Amino acid sequence: MKLLRTELRTGFHNKLFDMSARELPNRDTVFTHNHIICELSVKSLSIGFQISGKIRATLEYNCVRCLCPCPLDLILPINLLLTQHKNGVEKQDIIHFSETQDQINLTDSIADLISLAEPMNPVCDDNCRGLCPNCGNNINQTSCECIVDTDDNPWDELKKLKLK
Ligand SMILES: [Zn+2]
Ligand SMILES: [Zn+2]
Repeated sequence: MKLLRTELRTGFHNKLFDMSARELPNRDTVFTHNHIICELSVKSLSIGFQISGKIRATLEYNCVRCLCPCPLDLILPINLLLTQHKNGVEKQDIIHFSETQDQINLTDSIADLISLAEPMNPVCDDNCRGLCPNCGNNINQTSCECIVDTDDNPWDELKKLKLK
């Protein structure tokens, strides 16, 4: 997504930008919808522009317990400083925007922001019961006849203690 210097100068408030997930550099993120909506405001500063607002995207994961695909709606705050100063440009939320540039591309920053927000161990539901370790059935959808010793029986630990 590109912002023009002229539109930054004119200013905008809670403006909606519709971008395509395909525009983003690949960070191995899987998007359920190709649409990413950015609602952005700009503030002019003596050293550049402050961009703030939020990004909405829907990502797709596989639940770590039952392996089902589960969409995840993300609403992420975004805060970027576009500045002509080169100092501190390495910081993630600061983008160097030289005075000779007519436009600035935010796709890298947006891709980073989304990839940082990805959950490590996504579950489709906090109560997801996962797959049966014996027959592999999804226990959320079908019950099976297997009798499985679950490791998370709280009494197991107690039994071990008594044996010692
Ligand atoms: Zn699940
Ligand atoms: Zn089973």
